[in-house]
Amino acid sequence: MSVGQSRAIAIAGAGLSGAVIARTLAEAGHRVEVFESRDHIAGNCHTARDGETGVLVHVYGPHIFHTDDAEVWDTVNRFARFRPYRNRVKTTSGGQVYSLPVNLHTINQFFGRTFRPDEARAFIAGKADRTIAEPVTFEEQALAFVGRELYEAFFKGYTEKQWGCPPSDLPASILKRLPVRFNYDDDYFFHRFQGMPEEGYTPMVAAMLDHPGIAVHLQTPFSRGGRDGYAHVFSSAPLDNWFGMAYGSLGYRTLDFERFTFEGDYQGCAVMNYADADVPYTRITEHKHFAPWESHDGSVCYRESARAAGPDDIPYYPIRLVREKAQLAQYVALAAGETATTFVGRLGTYRYLDMDVTIREALDCARLYLQKSAAGEPMPAFVTPPL
Ligand SMILES: Cc1cc2nc3c(=O)[nH]c(=O)nc-3n(C[C@H](O)[C@H](O)[C@H](O)COP(=O)(O)OP(=O)(O)OC[C@H]3O[C@@H](n4cnc5c(N)ncnc54)[C@H](O)[C@@H]3O)c2cc1C
Repeated sequence: MSVGQSRAIAIAGAGLSGAVIARTLAEAGHRVEVFESRDHIAGNCHTARDGETGVLVHVYGPHIFHTDDAEVWDTVNRFARFRPYRNRVKTTSGGQVYSLPVNLHTINQFFGRTFRPDEARAFIAGKADRTIAEPVTFEEQALAFVGRELYEAFFKGYTEKQWGCPPSDLPASILKRLPVRFNYDDDYFFHRFQGMPEEGYTPMVAAMLDHPGIAVHLQTPFSRGGRDGYAHVFSSAPLDNWFGMAYGSLGYRTLDFERFTFEGDYQGCAVMNYADADVPYTRITEHKHFAPWESHDGSVCYRESARAAGPDDIPYYPIRLVREKAQLAQYVALAAGETATTFVGRLGTYRYLDMDVTIREALDCARLYLQKSAAGEPMPAFVTPPL
């Protein structure tokens, strides 16, 4: 098919979901119109130079690329030069700085011991609360895994601040695996491929969108009413918004970032968590440490705190507790009745998605559309079920 031959496809949102779908469809010969409500592309991965310090800032919070998916890794490397980057996070708890995720160093420092791996494993097993046979809540799960001291020092306060409720109100499923390592590995992610785009994520997304078949319209929200005339719509906009909040707003946590600058090196690492409940923020990000190949005298940091999202706030983390899941089921039923519209991405499917999962799903979604449209078959409302 040559560009311009058929009706265009509309995409709501110029984040990773929208950009990957747009590029895949444009390369297959479709005309694509991408609508973005903000004044920039790249969605929540957006990066920009700080005007005062020149440091590359992760505007909506720190983003580290990590994946085991070789095709996704090839995809991002096609559009940006990636530099090796390993995420090593520290946490301040009870007046001391520890290594995260909780590992042998953390355990030895916290308990003032010099355990070898097997000794630490046996020691922590002795701390674990064995009276909890089937943990139902996050708190029970943590106590069953690591016992009260580590739970209170590293998980309780941080989780309360992040989710705005006691961990005894959160489901055990949030803490799926044993959150402790019995070696000195402090690499935050296990994935084979990890890195940072040298110039940030926004130029990478710009390169994806740079195709003669793609037109991008910034500061142009797209809504259900604008669908007519398009062959298909892919929406990475919030699912509840699309349907005019028919069943109320799906709950999100939002983030506040308090910017401050510092001459020199403020904290010696990119991310410092604050685990104590009486410190109001969850972490401080010092952005220049995400680009250690650059050199800046000045530094810019974001002090981050979480709270319930109001109607005018940016939605960050979907809450997905019992109430929200019931609402989501209602929206999913509405979406199933929608014609020529597919809901994608973190807002369109109301799920937390890492960037690599977002890209994988966007590639799969665009390819399914190419198959379905060639066969004259309808496209489903969701390629990955949100529930
Ligand atoms: C604080 C935080 C930290 C994260 N850190 C990491 C990390 O370290 N590693 C990792 O892999 N992932 C991370 N993620 C996840 C990452 O942000 C997502 O994977 C990614 O943003 C999903 O892309 P998306 O296109 O689906 O959504 P988004 O990036 O949210 O893009 C959706 C776009 O749609 C636009 N939009 C909304 N409504 C409309 C409308 N009506 N019309 C037009 N446009 C609209 C929005 O403005 C936005 O630009 C993090 C997420 C958060 C919240």
